[in-house]
Amino acid sequence: MSDCIFCKIVAGDIPAKKIYEDEHVLAFHDINPVAPVHTLVIPKLHIPSMAELQPEHEAVMGKVMIAASRIARELHCTDGFRTIVNTGRVGRQEVYHLHVHVVGGPDVLPAMLKR
Ligand code: 5GP
Ligand code: ZN
Repeated sequence: MSDCIFCKIVAGDIPAKKIYEDEHVLAFHDINPVAPVHTLVIPKLHIPSMAELQPEHEAVMGKVMIAASRIARELHCTDGFRTIVNTGRVGRQEVYHLHVHVVGGPDVLPAMLKR
């Protein structure tokens, strides 16, 4: 997708602070972190959102989740972290290339949603 900012990061056309890369998965620090650890883990394949996932994406999404777990360990989130996948208008997704936020740090995070 030529107009997708995360595809441009995958292609190396715009810079990012990469922390993990393999054939199918890329992870990089969020440009506007909400916590001391805030990384984005993405499939290199352009999948717009969770709403578009299909059975053929099973393997790559497994790799994304395994990478997210590994990155959290490597960034010392030993006491927990939060993974977030915002989807669509209701989920307030901003970038339409599926990504898993990994958010953590030494402090306990605020509640995910207000009741
Ligand atoms: P969403 O709301 O779609 O779940 O989250 C998109 C995330 O991408 C936001 O946290 C935002 O800060 C991050 N982001 C947007 N543009 C860029 C960029 O060019 N580089 C990086 N590293 N992060 C970005
Ligand atoms: Zn993309």
